[in-house]
Order: sequence, then structure tokens, then C-alpha cells
Amino acid sequence: MTEIQVNKVGKVGVLPTDKALGFGKIFTDHMFVMDYTSGKGWHSPRIIPYGGLEAQPAMIVFHYGQAIFEGMKAFKTADNRVNIFRPYEYLNRFNRSAKHLCIPEMDVEQIHDALIQLLTLEKDWVPNQPGTSLYIRPFVVADEPHLGVKVADSYRLFIILSPVAAYYATGFNPVSIKVEDKYVRATKGGLGEAKTPANYAMSLAAQQEAYAEGFGQVLWLDAVERKYIEEVGTMNILFKINGEIITPALNGSILGGITRKTVLELCRSWGLKVTERQISIEEVFEAHAKGQLEEVFGSGTAAVISPVGELSWKGQKIVINNNQTGEFAQKLFDYITGVQSNKIADQFNWMEEVK
Ligand SMILES: *Cc1c(COP(=O)(O)O)cnc(C)c1O
Repeated sequence: MTEIQVNKVGKVGVLPTDKALGFGKIFTDHMFVMDYTSGKGWHSPRIIPYGGLEAQPAMIVFHYGQAIFEGMKAFKTADNRVNIFRPYEYLNRFNRSAKHLCIPEMDVEQIHDALIQLLTLEKDWVPNQPGTSLYIRPFVVADEPHLGVKVADSYRLFIILSPVAAYYATGFNPVSIKVEDKYVRATKGGLGEAKTPANYAMSLAAQQEAYAEGFGQVLWLDAVERKYIEEVGTMNILFKINGEIITPALNGSILGGITRKTVLELCRSWGLKVTERQISIEEVFEAHAKGQLEEVFGSGTAAVISPVGELSWKGQKIVINNNQTGEFAQKLFDYITGVQSNKIADQFNWMEEVK
């Protein structure tokens, strides 16, 4: 592996207090960058001061959106060590997304090493208050200046770091969700299973309409029949019906979340019945009518678990668990965040220490 060049600025920024952290507003002093050039492959890995970029207005990413990203987290332990949550899961997904966007494959070991080196340098930026973390954002953009539509011949990979506050500053609040029946997120054969900006660009209008109507999030249905549940804006979705955990199967249009995977592994290890299958919105409303819909919750890296208090579909609204956080959602949240913060033994080997 080529050695990573390091250009240190020293400590410039200051880690704010937990309250001022927010999400994704503050960045650490350094970032990792690497280039790709056709015929040469990925080259020039380097750690440089975080800051402005040299960019050409004609860069392909600005015009045609050829880009991918990831979102993962590192945590500080009480004795000042830094642990990353399931890094290889995220980095392998990064490569799977690359394939969908015709972005050249990356060497996962190399990016992993770069991440460790960057985190070692930025260790002081990992906040230590309960619920806080260092959010890690790897991404790749097509940086070739070219206005014709084509697969780019050059790319830039970045890893930037952002200390983030506890997601639930005021406690675990169930969200009110609009089941979207006008817009669609993705369809089989599209980009739904890749982590790429296009999936977010298309979600903005639906999200704005839902906010204006007083909802917190949008739940997407399948694009063909507008019947089967897919996922929430930035989260996967799970249902607890009659004691069974049910979640939509990864069908080609849903993003395979690492938190979803973690939740399913955990539920199976606890002996619960776990089913990944097609589930329609009608089935969920019927389960509610029969008194069998016990809990609904989202899963994603940012929030970990997000309880759903209400679901509205074509003007009909159901209230789940009296709009209170369910016992099971709470148990999952406590377990996963407990392992992440090193308060619960890591028996599944989810955490990797930055050494
Ligand atoms: C990232 C993401 C998720 C959640 O995935 P995690 O790996 O659990 O963070 C769910 N849906 C979409 C569209 C996403 O981009």
C-alpha cells in the first residue's frame, strides 16, 4: 500500500460543548483525500487540513450526480479510547454503492487504514458526553471536468469527520409519519440500494410537503403498486406485530442499513421471530385494527432507533402504542448504544478500537 502523506495543521478548531454540537455542522481539523485517474487507479492518499477544495465548474458530479457516500460513527469510551462501530460493514457497502454508480472499486483495507490514521490524528475531536459521537462521512465524487454525459475518468475520495450531539437531546420522541402516496423514492433496477445523493435529491419535495402538513418523516411505498412498505427517509423500518419482528426484505430498491442488520441479528440472538418479507401498508393498518400492531420503529446510524408514534395514509391515521416509545424499541436502543459507548460487553464484535 502506498504510504499516506500527512500535512498537519495542528489543532485549529475547538470541540464545542455537547449542546452546541448539533448534527453535521462542525468539522475536525483534517480530512483524508485520495484521487483516481483512469489508467493509474486510486493514488495519492493524503491527510490534509480540512477546508476549501479546488474544483472545476464543469466537474461531472455537479451536473450529473455521479457520487456516493457513507455515514458511520466512532465513540469515546470512559477511559478515553476511541471505538468505531462495524467499520467493515460500512466500507463494503461503500464499494457496493460504487458499483451502482460506475465508480471504480476501492481497496477496503486501504480506506480502513486511512480512516484509522485520520481518527488517530483527530482523537481529541471525539466527544465524550453520553449519546455523542464522531460522525464519519466518506464520499466519492466524479471530478473530471466534462459536460458530455459519461462515466468519469477521474474521481476524488474524501473522508471528513464531524462531532455530533446526542440525537435525542430531549429524550426519545416518537415521530409522526406520512405514508407517501404521490411521490416514489426508488424502484427495482434503480439506485435505491445505493447510498447516493440522487436518492436524497428526489426525496426533498415529498419531505417538504410532509413537513408543511405537520409530519416529521415520510414512509415510502413501492413505486409500482404503491402498496408495499419500503423505508423511511434516512432509515429502514421495522414492525412488531403479535410478538414478531417484521421488516421489508431487501428487494433491490431498499437501502440495506447496517443498523437494520444489527437489529435483526440482535432480535434473532434474543430468540424472537424475525421475518424479512413484503409487507403492505394495508396489512399494517389491519394489524392495528386487530390490536396486534405493538410497535413501529426506524433504524439508522444517526438516530440508531427512532420510534414511530403515528402513521397517516390517505388521510387515515393510526396511533401506535399511545404515541409512546415502545418497550422493545427502548430495549434495542439501550443495548446498541450501550455497546457503542462501551457500557455493555461487545459480544458480537461490533466495535473496533482505534489503536
Ligand atoms: C443510510 C441509509 C439508511 C440507514 O442505513 P444505516 O446503515 O443503518 O445507517 C436507510 N435508508 C437510506 C436511504 C439511507 O441512505
